[in-house]
Amino acid sequence: MEKTFEIGGRSFVLDQKKAEEAFAGKRVINGRPSMAFNLLPLRYQWAYDLYRTMKANHWEPEDIPMGKDLEQWRSTTEVSDNERWIIRMGIGYFSAAEGIVGDNIQHVVRELVTAPELKLVLGRHAHEENIHADSLLYMISSLGINPHECEAMFEQIDTVRRKNEFVTRISHSLRRDLDMTKLENKQLLAKNIFVFGQCMEGTQFYGLFGMILSLYRNNKFPGIGQMFRYTLRDESNHIEVFRNLLMDLVEENPAVWTPAFKDELTALMVEAVELEKEFIQDCLPVNSIGLSAADFIQYIDYIADRRLTGVGLAPLNPGISNPFPWLAEMMDIKKEQNFFEGRVTEYQKASSLEVVDDSEL
Ligand code: FE
Ligand code: MN
Repeated sequence: MEKTFEIGGRSFVLDQKKAEEAFAGKRVINGRPSMAFNLLPLRYQWAYDLYRTMKANHWEPEDIPMGKDLEQWRSTTEVSDNERWIIRMGIGYFSAAEGIVGDNIQHVVRELVTAPELKLVLGRHAHEENIHADSLLYMISSLGINPHECEAMFEQIDTVRRKNEFVTRISHSLRRDLDMTKLENKQLLAKNIFVFGQCMEGTQFYGLFGMILSLYRNNKFPGIGQMFRYTLRDESNHIEVFRNLLMDLVEENPAVWTPAFKDELTALMVEAVELEKEFIQDCLPVNSIGLSAADFIQYIDYIADRRLTGVGLAPLNPGISNPFPWLAEMMDIKKEQNFFEGRVTEYQKASSLEVVDDSEL
């Protein structure tokens, strides 16, 4: 018997029995091993949908003009040294972080998941980390920053080093030939997906996102601000990819989700938040206009709770409010007219320009 499947506005005719077998063999982990890229029939519709959304949001760093940024970077009157320091911290931290995320996807998560549509969206996710890494290179070259100086920040600034160590230790524990039928190994993977998606990309990226976009809002470093807006929109999709992946992994392997394991994840978020708060203090040694360390610390507590509740864990600060409601609008690029005069708008087909869950930020 034949059956028609619809995906992304196209239809495919599949043999019903073969399709059912293929569908049944699809699992987040321990599914049917297949060298063939058999996307059909889709079991994880969200993965395919997010892949298409992410692809439609494509952008290229070189399309963003950096003339004004360079002028401000060199000016003694237009921006302060504290503001320049935030940009340095942003470029320094993300230069390492984007690579660490991409490496973990390619060498850990994408290796261990088995369903092709999950591999598809993770491939796009890794590619976006490459775009982000490339955007930092573009910022470094445009401003004439010494790349070695950025690299030195990974080691010399304690709060940057500690944030990086927090995630790399969790990534490296999974680079062996692991028997994924064992509960302890399933929990290692679940922990990895939680830490990278919800603690790192979901929480520890948001201190700098807030600071750099706060500068952008005050017409400081407009090119860098635009790139971070695009990056933030991408990250919101990455958080969603990893959130869905964790939820489906747990649904298919319910033994993973013990009270002790949930406590372990919450404790990791507490650690991530502490590291982020120390990092914020380093970024904002003195308060300047629109940039108070206390507000950013509250923002991190707020964001961390969104991430915890997003995966069904209890919040740490119930009822905490968002001190930066404007940040959600910053990400919602489609609302703005003539935001960008360049090729980026052409990459985006009007109908597919979407942001996942922008109301939550
Ligand atoms: Fe990224
Ligand atoms: Mn990301």
